[in-house]
Amino acid sequence: MSQGPAKRKTKPIKSNIFDVVPAPAELPKNVIQKNIERVRGTCQGGEGFVEVGVADLFINWCRKSSLWYLFYATACCGIELMQGGASKYDFDRFGAVFRATPRQADLLLVCGTISHKMAERVQRLYHQMAEPKWVIAIGACTITGGPFYKDSYCVVKGVDLILPKVDVYVPGCPPRPEAFIDGIMNLQKLIMQTKNFGNKA
Ligand code: SF4
Repeated sequence: MSQGPAKRKTKPIKSNIFDVVPAPAELPKNVIQKNIERVRGTCQGGEGFVEVGVADLFINWCRKSSLWYLFYATACCGIELMQGGASKYDFDRFGAVFRATPRQADLLLVCGTISHKMAERVQRLYHQMAEPKWVIAIGACTITGGPFYKDSYCVVKGVDLILPKVDVYVPGCPPRPEAFIDGIMNLQKLIMQTKNFGNKA
């Protein structure tokens, strides 16, 4: 009598968020100690101290691992950005996922030539993003006006002239997707140094 196909033993798939986003390595005590800070505070009962710091590490780690960028490309650099999002370079593995609306994005990748006509739109998109937010300027055009620096009357000569801040600059015409990744990693380093509590640097 046929017994039918033998039942194969299947291994349970172990998967959790840390397979995708690297968890912070177990922090040695001295690192935790270094990151703890005593902050003086007052409440109804009087004055006292609270210890903050590890929360900073955790919050920064969460933020740097979930950078959702506004997909905003105005010229040829945008093609490289598309490459970066595609499977070969795969920004998603950094937790960097593109969004089509500023209200769900915390990273503005300004990617391409910005004309004066577009400047107001860039500003509006930036202001529609929720805090905290970061800006990466990508490519020569975004950073300085690029090849249009000298003779063009209609190109903005640097996105830092129209936005309150730019966190990271990625030079090139166009930069390769590897350079984009470097820019994102530099921003991640910057985020990890941010102080959310206590005496801000
Ligand atoms: S920097 Fe070069 S590649 Fe990028 S938008 Fe300007 S001209 Fe195009």
